[in-house]
Amino acid sequence: MSETSSPLLLSTGAEIRAAILAARSNGETIGLVPTMGALHAGHVSLVRTAKAECDRVVATVFVNPTQFGPQEDFNRYPRDLERDRALLAEAGCDWVFAPSTDEMYPLGSDTMVHVGAAAAEWEGRIRPTHFAGVATVVLKLFNLAPANRAYFGRKDYQQTVVVRQMVSDLNVPIDIVICPTVREPDGLAMSSRNAYLSPTERQHATALRRSLLAAEELVAIGESDVEVIRARMESVLVDVDHVQYIAFLRDGAMESVDRIAGPTVIALAAKVGATRLIDNTLVGD
Ligand code: AMP
Repeated sequence: MSETSSPLLLSTGAEIRAAILAARSNGETIGLVPTMGALHAGHVSLVRTAKAECDRVVATVFVNPTQFGPQEDFNRYPRDLERDRALLAEAGCDWVFAPSTDEMYPLGSDTMVHVGAAAAEWEGRIRPTHFAGVATVVLKLFNLAPANRAYFGRKDYQQTVVVRQMVSDLNVPIDIVICPTVREPDGLAMSSRNAYLSPTERQHATALRRSLLAAEELVAIGESDVEVIRARMESVLVDVDHVQYIAFLRDGAMESVDRIAGPTVIALAAKVGATRLIDNTLVGD
């Protein structure tokens, strides 16, 4: 399929599964990019990486209700399938799987993936049902679209840990590939939720990235005490309304560290106005 033709739009599990199994039986490798739509350059970079590494790429566009809490933004989450499809066409995507909620969760659906310690803290504490919803929909997508590799963004660091753990624990035959965070020119991590920010909030939102850069600078000059780094980050985060957490985690895991003594992810969540934003960086590598 050429880069300009529109990807085939499929809405049932039976259709996407048949398309993928047919391609695999021809010896083609398949890359899967799960998304909730409202696509931006971060999503597009996942599709481009998948396209560079696999013969065929399927992107899924599904706003998954089970990963939203009752007070969260499921209803107002941005949706624009035609725009998404055009962006995916440009990125060389072969299939778009955009199921309805009923297709994914037919009446009577009653089983969820139980997530463990990897999902308990940080995002998991603030959003207690979130990762069970993520793990469930991701496993369902892996079953419906049995790809060789699935591509996720490092921006959602805890999600990458939870998904890797689930794939390992449940023996899912798929390789997980983690891709770098794509940013706006001023450093703000791209997110579909950035659309919620007012112009003033949009400016304040750059504090997340600035605080991570300040942390990187401290580590670069030899600081290893996470409390010193946290204090410096908090001083940069004065512009945001509420810092929900700053976590120092052993890279690849959700285990907290109190010194930077090896590859360490610094992850943070903050509210800017009513909008929750997350970001992270890798230090000590
Ligand atoms: P979402 O549509 O927000 O559920 O995200 C779908 C996938 O895109 C997830 O694997 C995200 O981690 C990834 N993603 C979201 N934002 C970015 C970004 N700025 N850079 C790279 N990947 C991203």
